[in-house]
Amino acid sequence: MTKNYANFKENSNNLIKGSTGLKKWKAIYRLLDKVSPVPFDCGAVCGSICCSPEDSIESKNLDSSDLGIYLFPGEFLVHDDHSWIDWSFEDASDDVYPDSWSGKVGFIKCKTPPKCPREKRPLQCRTYPVAPYIDDNNKLHLIYYPHFTPYDCPIIYNEMEISSSFLHATYTVWKHLLRDSLTYDLIKDESLELEKEDIKIVYSSADYNEHKKSRIGK
Ligand code: SF4
Ligand code: SF4
Repeated sequence: MTKNYANFKENSNNLIKGSTGLKKWKAIYRLLDKVSPVPFDCGAVCGSICCSPEDSIESKNLDSSDLGIYLFPGEFLVHDDHSWIDWSFEDASDDVYPDSWSGKVGFIKCKTPPKCPREKRPLQCRTYPVAPYIDDNNKLHLIYYPHFTPYDCPIIYNEMEISSSFLHATYTVWKHLLRDSLTYDLIKDESLELEKEDIKIVYSSADYNEHKKSRIGK
């Protein structure tokens, strides 16, 4: 047993697991495998900076030791190939997580960024550069990823057009994931925090309903 796998085994029984099961996670990954935010390799524009945030962090003298990609409740179920990732864990009782959470939160760090098995990328990598936002009327929207990251994504700062198929698929995924109360609590908490920030909605619930109507009309 490798040290990395032993680390996972030791924590896996306590990993936070909501109502989104393995089958649903696989379907979500499959849906997002088919879409991309822009019709070209945007990593070529920025040197895939979102895959190697250590570089930006080091240049800003920040601590990169705990850096990892955060997994949503139950997402660890799809990550059964441990060969390309390192695991780390945080206590869900930490203030940054909703009160409803308990157990451990899993983080993965890819070993050879920006290269990874594309079909195994976690949700955060699949949906960046947009994030979910729940408004005061409990409506879901997609916004540009908030400026919590130490790097600047050219898609965001140049306000490049994001493909409608990517936005629609990502919105559909979040609609499903928010049925899980643990995920809902997290996104609602984050949305309340974001009310103080300058957010930009890139896809609204109205866009989603319009898209559905036009598909039905076909
Ligand atoms: S999503 Fe943004 S930061 Fe990441 S590779 Fe594409 S352009 Fe670069
Ligand atoms: S999993 Fe892949 S896409 Fe995500 S940060 Fe790592 S190398 Fe980049």
